[in-house]
Amino acid sequence: MSDKSPLFVSALELMAHAVEIYASNDPKKNKFVILHLANAIELILKDCLVDQGISIYKHPKETISIWSAISEIENLSIEIPMKPIIELLIDDRNTIQHRFGYPSAETTFYYLEKIAEFFKKFIRVQYRAELSLVLESYLNKDNIALIGLIPEDHGYFKKLFELSPEAAITQAVDKINKEVESLFDFKSSSNAEFGYIDRLLLALAKNGFLSEGVEGDYQQLKEARNVAFSKPGKSSEIAWDSSLQTAIKILDAISELSHTNHVDSSGNYSYLKTLFNLSPQLAIQQGLSDIENQLDRIRLRPIWRLRRQKQNAGLGAFEEILYYLSRKGYLPDEAYLNYQGLKKTAKDNFGYINSSKNSDSEKDFHEVIQILAAMERAIDDGIFSGRITEKIKDIVFARCEGKCTICGSSENLEIHHIIPIAEGGDSGIDNLQVVCDLHNN
Ligand SMILES: [Zn+2]
Repeated sequence: MSDKSPLFVSALELMAHAVEIYASNDPKKNKFVILHLANAIELILKDCLVDQGISIYKHPKETISIWSAISEIENLSIEIPMKPIIELLIDDRNTIQHRFGYPSAETTFYYLEKIAEFFKKFIRVQYRAELSLVLESYLNKDNIALIGLIPEDHGYFKKLFELSPEAAITQAVDKINKEVESLFDFKSSSNAEFGYIDRLLLALAKNGFLSEGVEGDYQQLKEARNVAFSKPGKSSEIAWDSSLQTAIKILDAISELSHTNHVDSSGNYSYLKTLFNLSPQLAIQQGLSDIENQLDRIRLRPIWRLRRQKQNAGLGAFEEILYYLSRKGYLPDEAYLNYQGLKKTAKDNFGYINSSKNSDSEKDFHEVIQILAAMERAIDDGIFSGRITEKIKDIVFARCEGKCTICGSSENLEIHHIIPIAEGGDSGIDNLQVVCDLHNN
């Protein structure tokens, strides 16, 4: 696809214009940022269709809607990154057009950032173009930086490179290895087996984080590093310059991925989902590690009761918590068994990176997300906290209609633990009721 086609150019102009309006810091203009962003997406998707030989006209002088454009694109099996956010944005555009007032700076920036991400990925895959470079003709550096498109400064490597290309390449490759490892919370020392990084880079390219052909570039980079390390006599045969560029490109891609949140506030788990596209095994490992981090933070007191009553079926500490969550209705009964299965599969596949998905990995990944989401809900509901949170207080008061559960009085009300904390009760909704001070003892 061409980055010179009129629709493409207009789309980029609108995107750039949206950034400029936002940067002018006039809240009354936020709605125009949103309108421009939505229009920019519409144009780029339509350009993509035109390029595939699909007409965007339903009648003379009337083009298809953005919703039809989206489904046509998907019919072509072209992936639309950030699709849920795009849908939200289009919906907001339609509302905004028919209403007074303006969206908040936060909402506007949220869209700006996400849509920039969409453009970055989409044009990288479809047009082989880099958004930050394309935008240079429309925006100044500050405005490009505003939407997070100025990559990390690699001045250090560049300086070192002037002194010694060999030293710079050796250090850059070391940094790539370290960064790849730090991308994942779980300890990946045994992952440092041959080919691990190669496969990961390939997966990054496949998901639009790196341009295609990176695999070959990386082989050259590794060769350069080996020469730098052990055969100084051969250094004239190496293209040091392009090796450093490759290294920097890879470092930027890794940093981009590491800035994607693990668990975003919308409960989308987009980091895990991105990882899942890179490698189902890695995503499941990371998800299990996220689960364990959460489990570690959970207070175990309510579990003691189960243990005393020997109702914990002889489970390990983590499984006990999941079992408890099932009993409380947050998870299906078999969740702790699923978890045991996941752990086993993860152990068997440790260090194995393969980007192909199958029904088993889809199912495993679904279970991981299900557990994470249930834990989040349970923590939110106060199941594991000793203290009663304000939110829970409000819910319990509303449920008891502001009256003592025992006598119906509405004077001097307090929140009461049905099973006391000391006896293993929790501060979750089910273990709380409203009583008057007379009945609190
Ligand atoms: Zn009472």
